[in-house]
Amino acid sequence: MKLLVNFSRGKGSKPIIAQVVLDTGVLISVERAVIDSSEGEALIDVPDDACHLVRDRMASLGATVRILEHGVTFNESECVDCGACISICPREVFSFDEEFRLHLVEERCILCGKCVDACPHHALTLPV
Ligand code: SF4
Ligand code: SF4
Repeated sequence: MKLLVNFSRGKGSKPIIAQVVLDTGVLISVERAVIDSSEGEALIDVPDDACHLVRDRMASLGATVRILEHGVTFNESECVDCGACISICPREVFSFDEEFRLHLVEERCILCGKCVDACPHHALTLPV
């Protein structure tokens, strides 16, 4: 299960992901992260059965946590199978099937948004 974590990095704040790993014993995979001197956003992946435990511990440390049930959303009726999303996706979410129709493996998505910008037919959106 993927969680989107936003946290501030004020003076004296703890390294939140490391702290939660230590406190819960849950191994956290960081899919992507943008962190500067004052705040951070990280997309993390945890085992499904530990996601509420991790979310609650992170929230208790001051983070805002969203559980993301889905990856990128695909509107098949808008797709013209041009393949632009295939080449730009860093996680190989997209491929063509034997009939050259677009196929998705949504679980690989890290919600980076690159395919959304690249799609000429607005067939792809990020969950809100
Ligand atoms: S949002 Fe990023 S990782 Fe997800 S399918 Fe699009 S390009 Fe791939
Ligand atoms: S970029 Fe858009 S239109 Fe092109 S194959 Fe991907 S989803 Fe379909």
